[in-house]
Amino acid sequence: MSVLDCDLIIVGLGPTGGVLANLIAKHDLSVIILEKENKLYNLPRAVHFDDEIMRVFETIDISRNFLNKTIINKGTRFLDEKNNLLLDWPRPKIITENGWYPSYRFHQPDLERSLRKNLSKFKKVSISQNSDVFSLKNKSNFVEVKYKNLKTNKVSLLKSKFVVGCDGANSFVRNTINSDLEDLGFQQKWAVIDVLLNNKKVLLPDRTIQYCSSERPATYCRNVGRRRRWEIALKSESDEKDFLKEKNLWKFLSRWVAKDDVQIERKTVYTFQSLIAKKWSKGRIFLAGDAAHLSPPFMGQGMCAGIRDVSNLAWKIAICCQNFHNKNLLKSYQSERYNNVKEYINTTMNMGKLLNEIGDTNVSKTVKNSNDGKRTMTSIKPSLGPGLGKKNDSNRGKVFPNMRLNNKRVDEYFDKNLILFSKNNYKNKLIKNISVQQFDTLSCALKKFNSEALIVRPDRYILSSTNDNNLNDFVDKTMLEVYNYKKRY
Ligand SMILES: Cc1cc2nc3c(=O)[nH]c(=O)nc-3n(C[C@H](O)[C@H](O)[C@H](O)COP(=O)(O)OP(=O)(O)OC[C@H]3O[C@@H](n4cnc5c(N)ncnc54)[C@H](O)[C@@H]3O)c2cc1C
Repeated sequence: MSVLDCDLIIVGLGPTGGVLANLIAKHDLSVIILEKENKLYNLPRAVHFDDEIMRVFETIDISRNFLNKTIINKGTRFLDEKNNLLLDWPRPKIITENGWYPSYRFHQPDLERSLRKNLSKFKKVSISQNSDVFSLKNKSNFVEVKYKNLKTNKVSLLKSKFVVGCDGANSFVRNTINSDLEDLGFQQKWAVIDVLLNNKKVLLPDRTIQYCSSERPATYCRNVGRRRRWEIALKSESDEKDFLKEKNLWKFLSRWVAKDDVQIERKTVYTFQSLIAKKWSKGRIFLAGDAAHLSPPFMGQGMCAGIRDVSNLAWKIAICCQNFHNKNLLKSYQSERYNNVKEYINTTMNMGKLLNEIGDTNVSKTVKNSNDGKRTMTSIKPSLGPGLGKKNDSNRGKVFPNMRLNNKRVDEYFDKNLILFSKNNYKNKLIKNISVQQFDTLSCALKKFNSEALIVRPDRYILSSTNDNNLNDFVDKTMLEVYNYKKRY
């Protein structure tokens, strides 16, 4: 094999690229990040993430410092034009199976700063800004990447074992691998206005409010600190042209705040879309985040989906870099992630229809009538699509709970590899074993999963479970699916 510059090249340093780089760096692999902008984009975009994502932040060691930049999100209410409650989606302040609260609010640049700061700890990670990737070539066992320095115009060539395109909605990487986008059917222009309150005493809702209306659907978001946001559907051409003009904007905003109450930080128009790439990889080139899928923001799940992508992909790439190349392992990335993200996008689109008053409150299967007659929703938890593990294993693809084990939590026992939780001790150098006998909570968990032993992946999903006492056979078969012992790289 020709001499390579690194294990992985990441194209794009948004939240998806930043989390991926942190995950790969933990495996002690070398990463080069090529980012075309010369600095971090310092304006608001994503404002919400959930417990599963905080668990990933814990995995990459940023949760403790980042926590004080977040607030706990109380939930979302959908109201009709007369302010009657149509649907309530509360997010109770209860620790979930992931070991965190169900939902947080944050400011995207704070997250991106934390991700970059943490990357500076790793000697094998380098970030190259002003670097516009314009050519990618899959070779038999590496990828050739060309990029141009936008300041000097110098063109450089790099070679790496893998490339992941985290290069956002207009992904160059996606175009290069000729991956078409499947349109799931939602497209609408929305104005987005981010403000900073001058005075914290202004009385505004303490949670997200979705104002459903056939004329003027809108969203209010209670964001971190003094930050608040309104999103408003633009339903006509004149709207698109004129809505953000001072006079029109204040006709809308004055329902909530006076001019003196706020500073407008940003006002812009987005086209909210629902798209998924049909093909998420070609050879050693992969897509993740907005490069692979786009969702309207009504559930606050666009960025979260990208972080789930790289949490799924990172450990698979790491195994292929450090052990033996395993095409089937890498193939499981799209098949496991596709249905999961599609369910989030479909539910988001149903919320979009409700907001526009062309749909009803049945936005997901988790909507029920509560005792007081209200329509109430709990968060959806789409499972992984088909991939690793046996189809008939009912535990496969479930999240393994981040439970307490004496004074630690399960996640503190994970480093980079799979873990075998079993009733009996077991020794194998590729897999860490934790015998559940030492911990009552673990014994109970195993009972709940109706298993003698479970193998959990580094992304905290259950890979396989067994009722059998024959651990040798169980571990061997599972490991063979993950590790391909034949082909180096
Ligand atoms: C109004 C709004 C509200 C939102 N709210 C939420 C929310 O509450 N929760 C949530 O989860 N999501 C939300 N999202 C979605 C979220 O912002 C995106 O999903 C997220 O930013 C995508 O991250 P990414 O890293 O995949 O892509 P991006 O953030 O787009 O980053 C891509 C990076 O790649 C770089 N790049 C592009 N091309 C090249 C190239 N050729 N060479 C080198 N670099 C390149 C770009 O400069 C950029 O830095 C919201 C989005 C919007 C617009």
